[in-house]
Amino acid sequence: MTVNKSKQMQMKGKTKDSSKKTLEGSIIGIIPKSGAIERCPECRRALVNDHCPVHLDVDPNKDLRIKAKLNTGKQLIINSGLAEKLIGLSIEDAHSLSEDEVIKKIKDRIMDREIKAEVRPINEEKNIYSAKDLQITR
Ligand SMILES: [Zn+2]
Repeated sequence: MTVNKSKQMQMKGKTKDSSKKTLEGSIIGIIPKSGAIERCPECRRALVNDHCPVHLDVDPNKDLRIKAKLNTGKQLIINSGLAEKLIGLSIEDAHSLSEDEVIKKIKDRIMDREIKAEVRPINEEKNIYSAKDLQITR
């Protein structure tokens, strides 16, 4: 593909397909607040100090999330089912381990690996993307 980014945008024109995008790079870091987390059942925000920033006291849902930093400067967020598959650890099991153990498992599995991911932008200015599908290519 020799088409540059601005060309691609023009070609896509009015559809502005921001729902599908491919990201490639190697994972050079795991960002804090990765691992076993709890989410508000109403708004899906991650709890901070056991509270939803909006709904305060809630009965949280358990989740597993990886925030990875790529060598391209982009941040890739890998959620729930995809994270479970990638790390080989269920959400339930992740919550039964210590934070350090979960982070170690994440690092053992994906640190310094090259990945190719189908993503959805969360915040393009800050280069944050959410993975919809992901493969380890090397
Ligand atoms: Zn909430």
